[in-house]
Amino acid sequence: MTHAHHEVVNPATGEVIETVPATSAAEVDAAVARAAKAQEGWAAAAPADRARLLRRFAGVVDEHIEELARLEVREAGHTIGNARWEAGNVRDLLDFAAGGVERLTGRQIPVAGGLDITILEPLGVIGVIAPWNFPMPIAAWGTAPALAAGNAVLLKPAETTPLTALRLAELALEAGLPEHLFQVLPGAGDVTGNALVEHPGVAKIVFTGSTRVGKSIMATSAPLVKRVTLELGGKSPNIVFADSDLQAAAAATPMSFLDNSGQDCCARTRILVQRSVYDRFLDLLAPAIESVVVGDPADEKTQMGPLISQIQLDRVRSYVPDDLPGIRGSAPDGPGFWFAPTVLTDIAPDAPAACEEVFGPVAAVLPFDDEADAIRLANATDYGLSGSIWTRDIGRALRVSRAVAAGNLSVNSHSSVRYSTPFGGYKQSGLGRELGPDALTAFTETKNVFISTEA
Ligand code: NAD
Repeated sequence: MTHAHHEVVNPATGEVIETVPATSAAEVDAAVARAAKAQEGWAAAAPADRARLLRRFAGVVDEHIEELARLEVREAGHTIGNARWEAGNVRDLLDFAAGGVERLTGRQIPVAGGLDITILEPLGVIGVIAPWNFPMPIAAWGTAPALAAGNAVLLKPAETTPLTALRLAELALEAGLPEHLFQVLPGAGDVTGNALVEHPGVAKIVFTGSTRVGKSIMATSAPLVKRVTLELGGKSPNIVFADSDLQAAAAATPMSFLDNSGQDCCARTRILVQRSVYDRFLDLLAPAIESVVVGDPADEKTQMGPLISQIQLDRVRSYVPDDLPGIRGSAPDGPGFWFAPTVLTDIAPDAPAACEEVFGPVAAVLPFDDEADAIRLANATDYGLSGSIWTRDIGRALRVSRAVAAGNLSVNSHSSVRYSTPFGGYKQSGLGRELGPDALTAFTETKNVFISTEA
């Protein structure tokens, strides 16, 4: 047994709000055994009953939206408006997954001499390793479809944000989900997380986090040929063509990289602007950046809160020396981990802030000459998660959508994530897809069965 603990800090004040015990490797082992037992019963239950229980779980989450949201404001510094959406997203994910339980159909394939069918079987015990930037939604993206497909789930939340995950596990029991089917195991990545990845009883790891850790999880999974879904980093472009509605493009730009204080893998942190409208765009963008309301995340009017931790604040600062030219908004002084909205102008395309994931409220703006130049710049990165294209020319919108190597693109919008549409990265932004119509299939094996009619 371990006596290790994690302190949970309110990022808006720097105060310790809770201490949470960490899960040792031996405790992970015991949790896997309990989960495996619970999974057998769950997989054998009638699909309609599994669906009903997941709907009930969604209903209980719905009754606790405000409580979950307030908890996320305290442990993660999310604005209250965002936190309510995030808790609602958990409910919606559970509802959507519940609808899939009775629609998880195999196929019947024409063959000679018999009947051929495919059966989609659950994998067993799934390990979900979540980051701190969207603790509730990302936990639910893995958990809800995995449970719906007949699996058990062991969720390891990030060290800094375990509280909403622990509460969700309590709500699952309140809703009547079988004991041990969904367990939350707080702890350090290299101890608790690693124990899940190395455990032969865990069939698949769904990991969201940094590209560095994602690569190490893939390597650790290789000897067991363990399945992985990886959602990693991004450096997504926001491509503004001269023929776009420039006012609308400028008005939408601040929150495209400032939402969640820029701690968003889909943040549009490379603003690519056609040279002929570059100056005009910056004139429109400056007042929009300066007027973003940064402050107490519990205040309904706040648009941007603090960064998650001192470590993250130091990391963001290291990318932005004071003498770098740019547009800067405002942020509170004093306790808490605050950084003002920042758009870096006159920055070299190969400068660290222009090509590495900062994971803070910082974007770089770069000019381009024509469509080919925009595509070249957009793709000049190892990442490929998201991107936006602003143009009134529908042909151009489609050409550029096809040419940009990224998993989630939006035209004249910055939307990335809906539970009903697939989400995931190209290149080093990830492996596999979450959400969308095929969400449950990612938690199954396909078994093909041929039945001879000749015998
Ligand atoms: P991180 O990679 O350090 O940690 C993510 C999770 O992995 C945490 O729960 C951590 O405890 C765990 N972990 C760390 N080392 C581990 C190991 N050796 N074995 C098993 N688990 C381990 O990332 P972070 O700092 O929490 O999150 C920020 C990063 O996540 C950013 O780089 C961001 O781009 C990325 N991210 C990507 C997406 C996406 O969907 N693509 C979403 C959110 C965040």
